[in-house]
Amino acid sequence: MAEIHLQNLAHSYSPTPTGPEDYAIREMNHVWEQGGAYALLGPSGCGKSTLLNIISGLLSPSEGQVLFDSKVVNDLTPEKRNIAQVFQFPVVYDTMTVFDNLAFPLRNQGMAEAKVHSKVQEIAEVLDLQNLLGKKARNLSADEKQKVSMGRGLVRDDVSAILFDEPLTVIDPHLKWKLRRKLKQIHEQFNITMVYVTHDQLEASTFADKIAVMYGGQIVQFGTPRELFERPSHTFVGYFIGSPGMNLIEVQADAGGVRFAGTHLALSEVQQRQISEKDYKKLQVGIRPEFIHVWDEPNPDALQAEVMHVEDLGTYKILTLNLDGAPLKVRLAEDKPVPEGRASISFPAQWLMVYADDYLLEARP
Ligand code: ADP
Ligand code: MG
Repeated sequence: MAEIHLQNLAHSYSPTPTGPEDYAIREMNHVWEQGGAYALLGPSGCGKSTLLNIISGLLSPSEGQVLFDSKVVNDLTPEKRNIAQVFQFPVVYDTMTVFDNLAFPLRNQGMAEAKVHSKVQEIAEVLDLQNLLGKKARNLSADEKQKVSMGRGLVRDDVSAILFDEPLTVIDPHLKWKLRRKLKQIHEQFNITMVYVTHDQLEASTFADKIAVMYGGQIVQFGTPRELFERPSHTFVGYFIGSPGMNLIEVQADAGGVRFAGTHLALSEVQQRQISEKDYKKLQVGIRPEFIHVWDEPNPDALQAEVMHVEDLGTYKILTLNLDGAPLKVRLAEDKPVPEGRASISFPAQWLMVYADDYLLEARP
């Protein structure tokens, strides 16, 4: 079991990188604490598998260090690092039985056969594989194979960490939910550091206590699902988390706050000062659809927006508004009256975020 520390880590697949765009992982510092259940969430191509393979030792980083409990492990093989990794597609020995596949990592470390039996039984039960133990792996369906593959990753409870790289991709949707719960149970039972890679925010937030959101080779935010929702520290997190994502409007600084087209938005003095401190290229305000206040009655003191579209999703509605040329999505609770033609709206100050060159003002790196 280990705390995993990434120190000034960067990776380029090119032997002669010339700029940041040649890096699959841009320089980062990050700590995965011992015993945590983590998700690494981001779109395809952002560097998730690269980062996972660097942690496990399948890939050697071009710059920086990987430390396990303060010890540099850059030169250690995956076996020496004592890491279990489960991949997107099943890795099983076709000619072996399910039992022997699950027993393999245990026998490999010389465990006594009686103990191997009890461990295999235990993990087979967790994954619902008891009835398949005598079957050859080649006769299994794709999701059964993936369960065996996961079992091989989970069967040892003495590993430093278990890394999952989108392991449920080939699994049937109804089984996915069950397996995610199982993983969570296993985590609670054995207290092993787990890093779970996914591009699915629901999968990330049901599994993890803390989520690292990756974008363009960087971890742009590391926080609880709630923190990612309430205070996205990067516009990408605002956009990627939530459905629909955060509304972002490009603005210019003006006296007392910011403006876009003919609309002025007041900001706090702290925010005004922060904006003026540097010459930022791009300023944006962000507010989640859930946090925009819609007045029940027309209110001349509020902002006036045109109602473009109403989508009824059963337990809530999504309004599409036009606020002075800026498109806005608003989530309206089902018991609220639906504005017709025009809507009076307000942005509660606590939920109005200001982004300077894509980073939340108060959370700039
Ligand atoms: P993810 O797992 O988030 O989809 P990857 O880590 O696989 O992302 O890829 C990150 C970037 O590195 C992508 O631009 C991808 O094309 C590139 N990449 C991945 N593997 C290799 C490789 N073996 N050689 C060169 N480029 C690669
Ligand atoms: Mg990948």
